[in-house]
Amino acid sequence: MTTTLPAYDEVVARYEPVIGLETHVELGTNTKMFCGCPTDFGGEPNTRVCPVCLGLPGSLPVANKAAIEATIRIGLALNCSIAQWCRFARKNYFYPDMPKNFQISQYDEPLCVDGYLDVEVNGELVRIGIERVHLEEDTGKTLHVGGATGRIHGATESLVDYNRAGIALVEIVTKPVPGLGVLAPEVARAYVAELRDVIRSLGVSDVRMEEGSLRCDVNTSLNLPGAEWGTRTETKNVNSLRSVERAVRSEMLRQASVLDAGGRITQETRHFQEDTGGTRPGRSKETATDYRYFPEPDLVPLAPDTAWVAELKAGLPELPRLHRRRLQEQWGLSDADMQSVLNAGAVELIEATVAAGATPAAARKWWLGELSRRANETGVELADIGATPNQVAELQGLVDAGKLNDKLARSVLEGVVAGEGSPSQIMANRGLEVVSDTGALTAAVDEAIAANPGIAEKIRSGKVAAAGALVGAVMKTTRGQADAKTVRELILERLGVQG
Ligand SMILES: [Zn+2]
Repeated sequence: MTTTLPAYDEVVARYEPVIGLETHVELGTNTKMFCGCPTDFGGEPNTRVCPVCLGLPGSLPVANKAAIEATIRIGLALNCSIAQWCRFARKNYFYPDMPKNFQISQYDEPLCVDGYLDVEVNGELVRIGIERVHLEEDTGKTLHVGGATGRIHGATESLVDYNRAGIALVEIVTKPVPGLGVLAPEVARAYVAELRDVIRSLGVSDVRMEEGSLRCDVNTSLNLPGAEWGTRTETKNVNSLRSVERAVRSEMLRQASVLDAGGRITQETRHFQEDTGGTRPGRSKETATDYRYFPEPDLVPLAPDTAWVAELKAGLPELPRLHRRRLQEQWGLSDADMQSVLNAGAVELIEATVAAGATPAAARKWWLGELSRRANETGVELADIGATPNQVAELQGLVDAGKLNDKLARSVLEGVVAGEGSPSQIMANRGLEVVSDTGALTAAVDEAIAANPGIAEKIRSGKVAAAGALVGAVMKTTRGQADAKTVRELILERLGVQG
């Protein structure tokens, strides 16, 4: 069945969207949630496993204190209340990548509840309610081989890798967010971006969406103005910020077309499709009773000490949004300029370059100019370009000391990016230092005067502005290495004219 989707503006004119987001974050703890197995990425399949995370009979889990601490810190940063007493629960379902046939999670007694996160969209603050933050364990990974698509259909065999099984996973669930209207897709994206920054600032996860350490499910429903909220669908595993925005928008369009035709929305999970930006149906959604939750009998309840929680709260870093505001003021940037710094992913790089001694203006110039251009050309993240904040600060120091002009500094930076060493090493190795020694420049100046008698005559007759052409000629013969100011002074002196 093909249907023509209505225009987005028409949809938001007729329907009100309600969104909700469930985000899973893999914690960066050294060991798994309930055993001592290492968690680092990339081991041979099934080498980071033990009886506990393989669910062998008789094995017993022990909760990871570092993971509990990280979860409480996330909860506190999201303004949640921390439970004084709570339990883990068994969520029962069979899936080949889950060796115990149940997942240890939290159900009606989550560790953190009832918080919020403020996000900024188009300069306005939107408060997103946080329903809960709880702790659970990750599953393993199933690989279907022999088929063309990597999916189970057409595959000749399926392989399971349990290295990821049991890694500590935090789930952050928002309250339903109504009233966003046309902004719903943008707010969803801004929320995930802000959440990612908050968690990164806590240093508890690398929160890389493309590697799966931050995964997002997006709930969307539509209702007529004044009516009850509609049936929601859940779009699973949306793997980039852009996809979060697209998933909400496309689901709003799809649901509107169903409702327009007099149809009903089915409560189901749907899968986001990167190529089309649309969603396709998955399984119909289980309800909580299908999982037969019950308190995990092999673990003691969690009862975080109030003094410990207070200590964790006192040790929280500044929130990213406030931190950005402060930097923007310190750097003297307009909202638009700050936005381009954010878009380039350059906030931390500029901050570190300033800390290494450069002025904010100089740091911004290099990171947003030459280095962003190179990052775009080569398709790498700015942070992975190969130049460090210290090197950029050193480069600017050489410019400020008059040893490099702008053109030479760009050549030195090229060497830095190519891994040739520090700016001063490259300047020495490539022989790029500015020549400001008058003795060495006089010959080049005399040569330029002799080669351009007409221009020389103009200057002699008082048209000092014509000196620029001779400066250019000297720069050319010295391959850009002459100090332009010294050259200009020399030209006027040789022609007997006052500057
Ligand atoms: Zn293990």
